[in-house]
Order: sequence, then structure tokens, then C-alpha cells
Amino acid sequence: MKRLCTATLLLTMLLSSGCENRPKQYERTQELFGTFVSARIFASDEKTAEAALDAAFRRAAELEQTFSPTIADSELNAVNAAAFSQETAVSEEFSELLGLSLRYSQLSGGAFDCSIGQLIDLWDIGTEQATIPTDEELHRTIHPAAHEVISLQDRSVRFTDERVRLHFGAIAKGYIADEMKEVLQAHGIESGTLSLGGNILTLGCKNEDEPWVIGITDPFAPQEITATLEVRDLSVVTSGRYERYFEENGVTYHHILDPWTGLPSDAGLASATIISQSSVQCDALSTAVFVLGAQEGLALIEGLDGAECVLITDDGTLLQSSGMDAYHVKQVEK
Ligand code: ADP
Ligand code: MG
Repeated sequence: MKRLCTATLLLTMLLSSGCENRPKQYERTQELFGTFVSARIFASDEKTAEAALDAAFRRAAELEQTFSPTIADSELNAVNAAAFSQETAVSEEFSELLGLSLRYSQLSGGAFDCSIGQLIDLWDIGTEQATIPTDEELHRTIHPAAHEVISLQDRSVRFTDERVRLHFGAIAKGYIADEMKEVLQAHGIESGTLSLGGNILTLGCKNEDEPWVIGITDPFAPQEITATLEVRDLSVVTSGRYERYFEENGVTYHHILDPWTGLPSDAGLASATIISQSSVQCDALSTAVFVLGAQEGLALIEGLDGAECVLITDDGTLLQSSGMDAYHVKQVEK
């Protein structure tokens, strides 16, 4: 079995240089949460920029310690070990992200499901151990959706099904991006971009009123972009089947799982991109819409205020929600 691909940037940012008299651009990249986190910010001087970047990356590292499935003593692993047999106290951040996750579980009818950690571990996609589970293993792992088997009261969590294992892989990067943005703003940063494994968050405008131009990765040629769009002060997050996968006997198995079948989701989409003010909302919805497919996914987005989407179907058709016109989507000529 060959592992074909590790996480790469989902979206390519198209940045041109700023004009003469604007603040200078400062950049930093660190590996966190198994992916690359990059910040490009505009600041008046190096001292301000360094202080802002230090604080933002410190916050990201704290949240990695809270939500990481791979750090042995993370809060996530402690909660997973304890919360079936007893009410378990959690931190404020944990409670907040779990509360949001349960909301998106409910909104998407379980397509986005933060309780499928066992299923994610069974496949182990994105690692050298990636493997196809047996039907028996899948059958044993599938359980009712997160919002039906997890109770959260303020800062206390309990699982009512012993198969529940929390996993925030489809939402934590969005939450961390929003938190980093807040820290940067508290340090007076008004313009810049964050990229967390391809989840893009834009802060303010690029140049006075100029929008940021963001490229959507071509799911059929992930080194290229298939379309561009223009945003100001918004997040743009894509879930795609090209991001992490392995191949066996000519079949490709990717990392976004259908919680009802336990198999890689096969609802007809190659990628789902969400645009909204909240990066955590973008992240949860990009996974949810990918799993729901075009028809149900578009219906979900049309029913929400402040979220729009661009979908690319398996046959390469680009679909947009009704409010996307504001973001000037342009398909790239190939
Ligand atoms: P990426 O992590 O590539 O940005 P997503 O945000 O869609 O993409 O998250 C996919 C990750 O979330 C998977 O690698 C897995 O850990 C987890 N996951 C897979 N399927 C689901 C699902 N249906 N609901 C919630 N989390 C999922
Ligand atoms: Mg997601």
C-alpha cells in the first residue's frame, strides 16, 4: 500500500506586492496540528509584528495541546478516556468547540460528526498505517450522530454511547484561525492572511479597499487552481478528496468519511469551499457539505445567513450558492 499524498495547501493565495506607503509585510510559518500554519501580516514595524506573531502562535500551540489527537496528554485524549463512564469537566475552549460541533452535527443531520474518532483511527488515512477496515470493524464502529450521544452542560461532558471518541480534525483548524485572528487584532494588526493547512482567513483588506484574491485548488490537479474569488475580512475553507488519501488495488480512499456507512464519502463532490466571517463555521460546513453532496449541501448553505459556497462536482462542474456573485468567482482558463 502506498501513501500518495500528505496534507498540502488547499488553497493558493494570490498575493501581489502592496503599494509604497503601506505598512510592511511580515511572515511566519510553523508546523502545528500536523500541518503548516502560516501568517502574513501587515504592521508598522518589526517589533509590533513580532509581538503579534509570537502571541498568535502561542495561542495556536495552546489550542493544539487542547485538541490534538496525537499529543498523548492533550485534553481531547483525557476527555475521550473519561467521558463515557462519568461527567467530565472540560476547559472553556473545549466546551465552546464541542458546543459548536454539536450544533453543526445537528444542522447537517450528522454529516459533520465530531464523535467518529474510532472510525477515523480505523482508516488512519494520512499515516503510513492507512488501511481498509473490514465490514465487521466498520459495523462495530458506526453509532448514532454526535448530537444524539453526547451531553454538554456548561463545562461538563458525558458520552451516552461507549463508541464515541471525539475528533476535531474537521473543525479545530477553523477555531484556531479565529482565535489567532483575535490575538492579532488585539495587537493592532488590521490586515493580513492566515493559512492553516490551506484553510484561509483574511484579515481586513489587502490594500486600503482592495480585496484579497484567493485561489480554489483544482481537485483534479491539486498543484493548480481552478477558480479565483475576492474577499475582504472573510475565511475561505475547502474540503476536498485530493487532500489526504491512499490507493489500494487501483481504488482511491480519501479522508472525509461518511458517518452512516463508515466509508470515504462519495456524494458526487470533488471539493466543497465555504466562505463566511467565521473560520470555524467554514471548516465545519466544508466537511458537512462535502458529505451531503451538491443538492443537500446547497440547501444547507442557502438556509444559513452569512455563508456561501463553491462546489466542484466529480465531473468538474462548478456550482455556486446564490450569494456568491458578491465574490466575483472567475474560472481559470485551462
Ligand atoms: P482537512 O482536514 O483536509 O482540512 P476537513 O476539514 O474536511 O479537511 O476535515 C477532514 C478530517 O476530519 C479528516 O481527516 C478526519 O480526521 C475528520 N473527519 C472525516 N470525516 C468527518 C466527518 N464526516 N465529520 C467530522 N469529521 C470528519
Ligand atoms: Mg472541515
